[in-house]
Amino acid sequence: MRVLLVEDDELIGQGIVAGLRAHGIDVQHAASAAAATAAQAGERYDALVLDLGLPDRDGLDFLQDARAYEPGLPVMILSARDAIEHRLAGLQRGADDYLVKPFDLRELAARLHALVRRAQGRTAPTITAGPLCLAPESGQAWLNGTAIALSRREIDLLTHLAGAGAGWISPEQLNERLYGLSEEVGSNALNVHIHNIRRKLGAAAIETARGLGYRLGWRAAS
Ligand code: CA
Repeated sequence: MRVLLVEDDELIGQGIVAGLRAHGIDVQHAASAAAATAAQAGERYDALVLDLGLPDRDGLDFLQDARAYEPGLPVMILSARDAIEHRLAGLQRGADDYLVKPFDLRELAARLHALVRRAQGRTAPTITAGPLCLAPESGQAWLNGTAIALSRREIDLLTHLAGAGAGWISPEQLNERLYGLSEEVGSNALNVHIHNIRRKLGAAAIETARGLGYRLGWRAAS
């Protein structure tokens, strides 16, 4: 299990990281909302552990964005604010559970395991194309049955390509589907994602044809 911990207090953060690792949970520690947003954009996590009192942003606002970005992500709130209003606000904005500081690390670990088990129990549709299997909702991917770590954008990109079957998708169409029309995207972003996917899945994963664009190297099973 891989967890993103958002906690600005360095000592508390280090304590949680050490405590969860001792319970077999891999933890990435972000000390601000900005660092957490960057971490979430680059990697997939099984759960988010969030301190509501952050230096750079309201924790509840961050929570709302994090949940919008990744709807199925289980969220555990940590807070010194033990007022019932704050707990309720957190749960209303998409948190699954909360602990009031100070708490026992064993309890946090046990509750995280329960949250992730529950989330994984929700059935998510998968797409199979040749040796590749994608679970877009949970953000998981497997190649020949082995789990491969892909970013959200990489999963999205592969899902769009798989949906087109043997058809080609132009770079413009891909950019529009990945980023929408409103977002200003560096022209190189798509190339970087394609490069990274080929590095992780093999060069044959994505085919390129001049003037046509891209398509998946394998056809999705219908
Ligand atoms: Ca704090």
